[in-house]
Amino acid sequence: MNKTTSLEVITTISQLRRRLAGERAAGKCIGLVPTMGYLHDGHLSLIRRARQECDVVVMSLFVNPLQFGANEDFDRYPRDLERDRALAAEAGVDVLFHPAVEEMYPQKPSTTVRVHEALTGRLCGRSRPGHFDGVATVVSKLFHIVEPHRAYFGQKDAQQLAIIQRMVEDLNFPVQIIGCPTVREPDGLAMSSRNVYLSPEERKIAPLLYRALCHGEAMIRNGETDPEAVVAQVRQQIAQAPQFRIDYVELVSFPQLQPLETIRGTVLLAVAAWLGQTRLIDNVIIDITPQGLDEPGTDEEGEP
Ligand code: AMP
Repeated sequence: MNKTTSLEVITTISQLRRRLAGERAAGKCIGLVPTMGYLHDGHLSLIRRARQECDVVVMSLFVNPLQFGANEDFDRYPRDLERDRALAAEAGVDVLFHPAVEEMYPQKPSTTVRVHEALTGRLCGRSRPGHFDGVATVVSKLFHIVEPHRAYFGQKDAQQLAIIQRMVEDLNFPVQIIGCPTVREPDGLAMSSRNVYLSPEERKIAPLLYRALCHGEAMIRNGETDPEAVVAQVRQQIAQAPQFRIDYVELVSFPQLQPLETIRGTVLLAVAAWLGQTRLIDNVIIDITPQGLDEPGTDEEGEP
């Protein structure tokens, strides 16, 4: 259903709680889509899924300073509230929660969520120390503020999805986490708000990351069981464009995020690489259990 006229922008926690209290009391299902804004089709796919499955769709738009490192792009992260408001309304958001930093953090927090190194010590967590603690802290706050029945996260950020799912289990949040497939540009590049940083030249090279991942996925589906062989091939593919500076190529179990001696079960093949000033990430989740082998490609799969 298209709800273009009814979107409400709320900026304070107390107002949002008042707005949702009645809905909750009436037994309505509340869905939350956390975002940092500058919406693209990836975000919109999460919103549309929430629209299908929930009575009330809340989208948060908050560029969370806690999850950015000192030398990262917090200040220059792209922002466009008016554009986001129109896109969110069209995709079916009922409430856009857009708090100021001072509303979410009136004082420097003394209490934060700390994610165990077993989950943060590799992949993006290794090159972004503290990032996932910042993510887990803000998502916890949003879960307490919104009290959603369901919350929607993209598989594009697979480590984040696994960490949030684990946090919900460890801390008993009464929310169902829904993982949604990665939405891509026609040439395969995973959509990201950060893609606007790419120069036209870099934009042309960028889809190589996904092609390299697909190459790795094909090796695995064709029976390769040695993780190092797959990682080496993916690295070699990416190295075809010397402009890429690889941060990591890793193959781990999913959602446990643990290193593998042999490829089996459900695995995450993930990459991060710098192209000029832009750090791009992408991944494929491959299910090689007998069931999973029936399905070509896992990008279409929902929950992890
Ligand atoms: P962000 O605004 O980058 O924090 O992303 C907000 C949510 O959208 C996160 O759950 C992301 O994983 C998800 N997301 C970002 N890019 C994509 C994409 N290309 N496809 C699907 N989901 C995405």
